[in-house]
Amino acid sequence: MEGRNIENFDLCVVGASIAGNYLTYLLSKSNINIVVIEEHKDIGLPFQCAGIISQKLGQLIELPEEIVLNRVKTAKIINPSGNFIKLSGNEHPFVINRIALDRLYYGKNKIATNITYYLGERFRSFRYGVENGQKCVLIDTSKRLIKAKMLIGCDGPLTSVGKHLKVKNKLLYAAQIRIKGNFHENEAVMYFHPLWKQLFGWIVPEGNNVYRIGIASSKNVKKCFHIYLKKLGIDINNKIDQQGGIIPYGIMNKSAFKHVLLLGDAAGQVKATTGGGIVMLLTAAKHASNCVKLSFKQNNFSKRFIKKHYEKPCLRTIGKELKLHYVIRLILERLTNKDFEVFFKIVKENKIEHIITLYGDMDFPKDLIFKLLKKPLVFTFLIKFSLKNPNIFIKLLKILTK
Ligand SMILES: Cc1cc2nc3c(=O)[nH]c(=O)nc-3n(C[C@H](O)[C@H](O)[C@H](O)COP(=O)(O)OP(=O)(O)OC[C@H]3O[C@@H](n4cnc5c(N)ncnc54)[C@H](O)[C@@H]3O)c2cc1C
Repeated sequence: MEGRNIENFDLCVVGASIAGNYLTYLLSKSNINIVVIEEHKDIGLPFQCAGIISQKLGQLIELPEEIVLNRVKTAKIINPSGNFIKLSGNEHPFVINRIALDRLYYGKNKIATNITYYLGERFRSFRYGVENGQKCVLIDTSKRLIKAKMLIGCDGPLTSVGKHLKVKNKLLYAAQIRIKGNFHENEAVMYFHPLWKQLFGWIVPEGNNVYRIGIASSKNVKKCFHIYLKKLGIDINNKIDQQGGIIPYGIMNKSAFKHVLLLGDAAGQVKATTGGGIVMLLTAAKHASNCVKLSFKQNNFSKRFIKKHYEKPCLRTIGKELKLHYVIRLILERLTNKDFEVFFKIVKENKIEHIITLYGDMDFPKDLIFKLLKKPLVFTFLIKFSLKNPNIFIKLLKILTK
């Protein structure tokens, strides 16, 4: 780091995707002097998202009309044998223009006088330093040295900021194409299969007969994707374009450190049932913004303070639900084809679709789980499953009580 000029800021945010831009926006009216470092030159690119987000998006942020491309009215869930159930209710998730969402807050932030963006610049490392008797962080990027009181890692699933703090996410690898097709315009598909059991194959209707078709898996994603496309009868050569991407898998990571916090995919704030992270990170960003403002007001950047004002509120709101998503995922991963068949039969024959429709919540599944557990057939199904998989239930209990 030595021998280069140092630039001074109050706060350094690494990553200018949705987490970094939204948090910076929440702080844009403060007098905190912020620098945002983004390794790509164009905000929002490369595009790596299926872009399906629950209606909560409209409650969390002011959502301009042009960001919403379509609404989903039905979810078709296909099991490994090819049988399906269809769920439709009051929840009509948005299909969004993800590039535009990332750019929405960048557009607002770049005109704020307290915010500087350095695009096409890579965060490399940081270390702690001391200035006038006060601790600070010294950040080394591909182009300069930055001194700040606080550092925020919004740098996605492979987080370099996190790596310096020994945070490492477990990962899924995703492949997606956009293609013109003749599927249902308002129906999203989730296709479960043992080959990609850590998530599912999806079809998301973007509108204008364009569909986002993808899968995520912990291994062999390319091979799985070709098998999935073959099952759907799709020729990859007809694609409009292709995306890849990485999705954190598990529960929320440690996210509070001395002078540093992690937000979004960097902190593993992603639902293990769907791979969706946007509602979670927007919720966490509000806690992060409160914590940052308090840290500067009280000049307190200790791990304890950040934990109290950021990590704990996150755990109370999204953290518990993320654990539940992970528990559901661990159960789904262990269902055999026969289990899926039995469960679908229970759902169909007992009007459980109706309960899912009424209480289903893409983000916060707790209420639905309690309602389902009250159904004797579902309860019996789970008891039988737990007798067949005794170890998993010990693991699930550990996760829920952690
Ligand atoms: C294929 C796919 C489909 C998905 N579908 C959905 C969905 O339908 N609904 C949903 O809610 N979520 C979905 N997600 C998850 C969602 O995209 C993420 O939760 C969200 O993008 C996380 O935002 P983020 O800002 O935390 O991280 P990212 O979007 O990963 O952004 C991190 C940013 O940091 C930058 N960066 C990284 N390292 C450095 C560095 N060293 N220096 C400088 N900059 C750096 C990157 O360039 C990037 O701009 C999907 C993800 C994938 C991969």
